[in-house]
Amino acid sequence: MVTIDGSFGEGGGQILRTSLALSLVTGKPFSIHNIRAGRKKPGLMRQHLTAVNAAAEIGQAAIEGNRIGSQAFTFKPDMIKSGNYHFAIGSAGSCTLVFQTILPALLIAGEPSEIILEGGTHNPFAPPFDFLEKAFLPVISRMGPKVDAVLEKPGFYPAGGGRFKVSINPAGLKKIELLERGDIIHKAARASVANLPVKIANRELKIIREMLEWGREQLNAVNVENSQGPGNILTIEIESENITEVFTGFGEKGVSAETVAKRAVKSVQEYLAANIPVGRHLSDQLLIPMALSGGGKFRTLSPTKHTTTNAEIIKKFIDVDIAINEYEQNRWEIELWNG
Ligand code: ATP
Repeated sequence: MVTIDGSFGEGGGQILRTSLALSLVTGKPFSIHNIRAGRKKPGLMRQHLTAVNAAAEIGQAAIEGNRIGSQAFTFKPDMIKSGNYHFAIGSAGSCTLVFQTILPALLIAGEPSEIILEGGTHNPFAPPFDFLEKAFLPVISRMGPKVDAVLEKPGFYPAGGGRFKVSINPAGLKKIELLERGDIIHKAARASVANLPVKIANRELKIIREMLEWGREQLNAVNVENSQGPGNILTIEIESENITEVFTGFGEKGVSAETVAKRAVKSVQEYLAANIPVGRHLSDQLLIPMALSGGGKFRTLSPTKHTTTNAEIIKKFIDVDIAINEYEQNRWEIELWNG
C-alpha cells in the first residue's frame, strides 16, 4: 500500500488527484492522510470528493473515508472500466480537475469512453475549459489517444452550473519532446462576460491593445448568454508552430478589469520573453502523461510548487526519474525517464 502525506509540498488537492489517477493506472492501492493540510479549509471539498468517487467508479475501487471534510481515505482499485459516465460536482467546484483525475486511466483503457461533467468550467486556481481544450488536450492527442472536449454550458465560480462532454479514444502513450516553441502562428484575446456589463470586457481588451500592441482583429469581447451566474474571464491564446498556450485572467469582486488584464498580460510577457514552449500550468499537468509514456522532455519557466510536488507524488507510484534544471537563465528543462 502506497502511503501519501497530503501536507507534503504544495499541500493541496493536486496531491490526492495525482494519487487517484496513478493508483487507477498502476493498480496500486494507497492511503492518504493530512488531506489538503496546506489549505484554510482542509480535507475533501465537493470537487475533491467528486474526483474520489469518480475514480472509485471507474476503477471499481474499494474505498473508505470518502466524506466531505474527510482528511484521510484509503483507495483499492480493481479493473478500469471504460464506458459512459456522468459526474456532477453539485457546486461550482472545478470539473476540469475532476476530469484530469480520471483521464489517465481512460487514456490507456481497452475501450473508448464518453464523459459528461457538471459544475464549474471556469474557476480561478484551476484549468479553465479553454486551457483544457486548446493547450492540454492537443498535447495528449499528440501522444496517441484522441480526446475531444465540447463545452455545452459555461459554469463560472461561484454559481457553477456548467457542463462539458469529452470523448476519449484510448491508445498507448508515445514519448514526446517539447523543446522549441516555434514561430507564433496566431494570437487572440477573448474577454467574456456573463450577466455583467460588456464594458468590463472592453476595458480588459484595451489593456491588451496597449500593453501587447495587438490589433483589433485579435481582440474579441463576448457576452455569454447561457450562464447560470455572473462571471468574467479573459483568455489569451498564443498558438505557435509546436504548441498552443492559454493564459487566463479571472474577474473578481473588488479587482478592476484593468488589474485582471494586466496580471494575464504579465504572464504572457514572461512566457514570450523566455521563448520556451510550455507555460507554468501546463508544466505541472504534463508530468503525469509523460511519466506514463515512459519519459519525455520539455522546456518551461521556473517550476512552481505544484510542479515539484507533483513530481514527488508521481515517483511514489511509478518508477520514473524526473530532473528539473535551469539550463539558461529563466529557462528550465524537465526530463523524465524510466527509473
Ligand atoms: P486546493 O486544495 O488548493 O483547493 P485544488 O484542488 O483546487 O486545490 P490545486 O492543488 O491547487 O487544486 O491544483 C490546481 C491545478 O490547476 C494545477 O494543476 C494548476 O496548474 C492548475 N491551474 C490553476 N490555474 C490555472 C490556469 N489559469 N490555467 C491552467 N491551469 C491552471
